[in-house]
Amino acid sequence: MSRVLSGVKPSGKMTLGNYIGSFRNFSSFQDENETYIFVADVHALTKPIDANVLRSTTYDILSFYLASGLDPEKCVIFKQSDILEVAMLNAILVNYIYMGELSRMIQYKEHVQKNNGKEIGCGIFTYPVLMAADLFMYDTEICPVGEDQRQHVELAHDIARRFNSRYKEEVLKLPRSVTPKTGKRIMNLQDPSKKMSKSDKDDEQKGIIYLQDDEKVIRKKIMSAVTDSETEVRYDPVNKKGVSNLLTIYAAMKNIDIEEAEKEFVGSNYGNFKRCVADAVMEEIGPFKERFEKFRNDEAYLNKVFEDGASKARKVAK
Ligand code: AMP
Repeated sequence: MSRVLSGVKPSGKMTLGNYIGSFRNFSSFQDENETYIFVADVHALTKPIDANVLRSTTYDILSFYLASGLDPEKCVIFKQSDILEVAMLNAILVNYIYMGELSRMIQYKEHVQKNNGKEIGCGIFTYPVLMAADLFMYDTEICPVGEDQRQHVELAHDIARRFNSRYKEEVLKLPRSVTPKTGKRIMNLQDPSKKMSKSDKDDEQKGIIYLQDDEKVIRKKIMSAVTDSETEVRYDPVNKKGVSNLLTIYAAMKNIDIEEAEKEFVGSNYGNFKRCVADAVMEEIGPFKERFEKFRNDEAYLNKVFEDGASKARKVAK
């Protein structure tokens, strides 16, 4: 039995990338591990966010967790901000990391580039330290995340090693990041050279499938996904980025290998291929959305889940 921990930021609308890369897989851990899953509402403050939006998206994420099969009887589901001890640990850990190390983080560099270096909050710079605090707080051994978070988990290792070697004692545990076999990085459907990201600008959103999009919109986005001038459905993420991304989505939804997915589309044209991808997405996302709505409409229950989860997580944090 291992201690598992992960979380998702309640900022912006959840994408199919978040779903495939992270919380779709969370429930697979809860039967055989001590699983801690939180809504990373403090992390959501790294970019300006309206208070009511934050409140609402915090409930959204919890409802997504429950809709994806997480069971509060089998795992601890809580809100990051309910555990004040993490803030204390964060204040300690910032002393065990160098600015140069933080400035090398890809997500931070991308953020600086997107904003032309202007108004870069300190929170976005020290984000990986808070993430490390969450990991250490619960002695995490396994951290299921998408590819983009691996570098942050590695940085947590650096902090832990430095801390442990300074005090010659293994105080902080080194967590291992686990990414899904298929779908660790789902790309934008209109620009498959970049990640499908919930924080993209309006004009880039045609390539992003939001879990709250209705069926017609989801199908339209998939049918108009960028492919290439060839006709062959083949996995080649260098030369056929769009087709490879769609194959990845298909394989993830069907729980099959990419090679198996490729075989299913030998001789198929792109139109038929895209229709099959859309069907596969809807087959899973349709019922998922129904479950989501049911949970989302019961805030009294959601508050209870948060309260119970916080009291369990707090005990470990203390
Ligand atoms: P965030 O949106 O940064 O809170 O990310 C929540 C989780 O979703 C993290 O584990 C990310 O690695 C994962 N994730 C976000 N975008 C993608 C994507 N396009 N493909 C796969 N995983 C993703």
